[in-house]
Amino acid sequence: MLRQFFSRAPELKSPREIALMREAGKLVARALGMARQMCKPGVKSIEIDRVVEDLYRTHGATPLFKGYGNPKVPFPASTCISFNEQVVHGIPGTRVIRDGDLVKLDTACKLNGWCADSAITVMVGDVRPEWRRLVKVGEEVLEIARIELGRCKWWSEAAERMQRHVEKAGFRMVEQYVGHGIGRVMHENPQVPNFVNDSVRKANFRLEEGLTLAVEPMVNMGRAETDTLRDHWTVVTRDGLPSVHVEHTFALTGGKVVVVTEPEPSEGPEAVPVQVSSLQPQAAAE
Ligand code: MG
Ligand code: MG
Repeated sequence: MLRQFFSRAPELKSPREIALMREAGKLVARALGMARQMCKPGVKSIEIDRVVEDLYRTHGATPLFKGYGNPKVPFPASTCISFNEQVVHGIPGTRVIRDGDLVKLDTACKLNGWCADSAITVMVGDVRPEWRRLVKVGEEVLEIARIELGRCKWWSEAAERMQRHVEKAGFRMVEQYVGHGIGRVMHENPQVPNFVNDSVRKANFRLEEGLTLAVEPMVNMGRAETDTLRDHWTVVTRDGLPSVHVEHTFALTGGKVVVVTEPEPSEGPEAVPVQVSSLQPQAAAE
């Protein structure tokens, strides 16, 4: 969501409400799992969007991005699919995925009245090492957010650690777009910036039981500035260098941080069949 700071109290959720959000979160995680599998050279981004939308419809969920925004140019799809230097809000279409691409997949749905929002960055095939490092740092930043949500008193403390990690790696955090509270609607108070400055400190909020946040760092390899393309949606880095976007919906409940959009645990050994060859004794070390 576009940055615009104001301080209004977040709406806190009950454990029952968070459990309902978790059901939406599982479906979003499943959609992203299917989308990740489809990120292969030769696949068009619109084909991925169709699979995600079908999954939501099959489960009676509403895709939250479709029709979102300015009524004159609403977002036309259920998934934002952004390539390489595209930061966020890419529109699925006829663009074909190629070996070496970074594909950012972002999607949200509402199920039984409750929302969840998540994004992943997929590395397709042979991605150059510096781009891989960018993805790794982006994923580490989201993990830092998860850990700090459980340890800090104020959001600004977590945001400061996220920003520091990015800058230590030589990359830059995007400041024009931020995360958000989430619940019955996709974008609730508060705004959740991934960095700190004076206005962020003024709009700071306490990390308390019942808080539900979509945290979504965008990490640029080069400069932090972004531009929006003439399609009114696609956000790109101004310097053309690649960007990474990852997002989870988190909830503070029962004294813990719950990852609302975490995939369901796999269903035991049947889900991952053991290959006979891997059971053969290993050769002795030389
Ligand atoms: Mg999102
Ligand atoms: Mg979001």
